[in-house]
Amino acid sequence: MSNAKLPVIIAGAGPVGMVAAADLVRQNIPVLVLEKGAVLASESRASTFHPPTLDMLENLGFARALIEQGLKAPTVQYSSSEDGVLGTFDFAAISDLVRHPFRLQAEQFKLTRIILDGLSGNPLFSIAFGNELKSVEQTSYSVKLMVSANGRDATYECDWLIGADGANSVVRRTQDMEFEGFTWPERFLVMTTPVDFTALRPGVSPVSYVADPVRWHFLLRILGAWRVMMPVAADMSDDEALSDAHVTASIRRIVPAEVDAPILHTTLYRVHQRVATTFRKGRSFLAGDAAHINNPLGGMGMNGGIHDALNLTAKLGPVINGAADERILADYDLQRRTVTMQAIQGDTIRNKRNLEAKDEADRARFRDDIRAAAADPEKARALLRRIAMLDSLERADSLHVAEP
Ligand SMILES: Cc1cc2nc3c(=O)[nH]c(=O)nc-3n(C[C@H](O)[C@H](O)[C@H](O)COP(=O)(O)OP(=O)(O)OC[C@H]3O[C@@H](n4cnc5c(N)ncnc54)[C@H](O)[C@@H]3O)c2cc1C
Repeated sequence: MSNAKLPVIIAGAGPVGMVAAADLVRQNIPVLVLEKGAVLASESRASTFHPPTLDMLENLGFARALIEQGLKAPTVQYSSSEDGVLGTFDFAAISDLVRHPFRLQAEQFKLTRIILDGLSGNPLFSIAFGNELKSVEQTSYSVKLMVSANGRDATYECDWLIGADGANSVVRRTQDMEFEGFTWPERFLVMTTPVDFTALRPGVSPVSYVADPVRWHFLLRILGAWRVMMPVAADMSDDEALSDAHVTASIRRIVPAEVDAPILHTTLYRVHQRVATTFRKGRSFLAGDAAHINNPLGGMGMNGGIHDALNLTAKLGPVINGAADERILADYDLQRRTVTMQAIQGDTIRNKRNLEAKDEADRARFRDDIRAAAADPEKARALLRRIAMLDSLERADSLHVAEP
């Protein structure tokens, strides 16, 4: 089976691929999304949308529906088990910089469903489920895709390919783009529970990080429940980590025995810090998890991926529409790879090291930094700009391969 050449094909219908598709369609560019799954993924994965990401989704017309299905988190809190609350930071302090001064807690599958609903019926948009990209070949003028289409071989051809096909990206692997970095020895256990942490910890924020040399954890409120994230020791097997005994013991570390603590859902996952050595090879681009993966402390993976997608489509759209020279595409790799290395990787690694710090001097530094930021409005604003990823977006915009 062979198909007519298309301007853009996107591999992967995760949040990053779907956002890229929506923005290209908005620019009147026909898009085909190839998705290996039979339907959109519905796993419980990322569930935080940062303020500027919400502004971007509003520009695409999807923010309102997502906000209706999510929970607004106006504040973020840092605590330590020995010192209690160190600082609570309200996004209202950056309301002059964003239209949505809060984090939105909503599972990522809600966004992909909203986008699919929004694009369905648009003649510029097509999605082929059950289509797994197998390999990529390209010349100076075209990209050829070999695909298993519901078990049958198919080929597609396009001018430009966006690889939004997740952490095991075929776009990346079959074109020898390295994925440099490391894997943490421990895994993360995420437990979803209806336990009312607002009653257990009065004043707790919907996004709450708790530092402890052994029992550090992260609490994230979603609609009707909380997600509790904790590390699992490297020497414990996956089966043991997911066993009732271990899950119960884990939640009991932070919920007293007299409080009922049912577990609605558990996820155990291995956490990596890896960045592709380039986000572009000729006519193909990487975005989202295909380009970078990091630990979830800070909620920067999916948000950073959405920022990649929109950075790329803001350049690719005008190139395809004849309004810009192809040379602007070089900025994509420079801008997004630089901020991924500096901000996304740097921040998520620092967040983890701060929460798990064992050395007293490191713990004191974290405690002092957060207390100092909480006591000084300018420092609080700087912290909020960084954790909302505004700094990384501003930095990306300032980088150019050549003068425009
Ligand atoms: C188990 C787990 C839990 C997570 N939890 C959190 C969390 O709590 N907080 C957080 O911030 N982040 C979390 N993440 C990370 C977050 O989910 C990702 O950053 C986000 O999904 C990235 O979006 P994406 O669109 O780039 O990739 P994905 O969401 O992975 O989407 C990729 C899409 O491509 C499709 N695909 C893959 N290969 C092919 C192929 N060869 N051909 C066609 N289609 C293909 C897949 O089926 C999928 O639909 C988690 C990740 C995992 C794996």
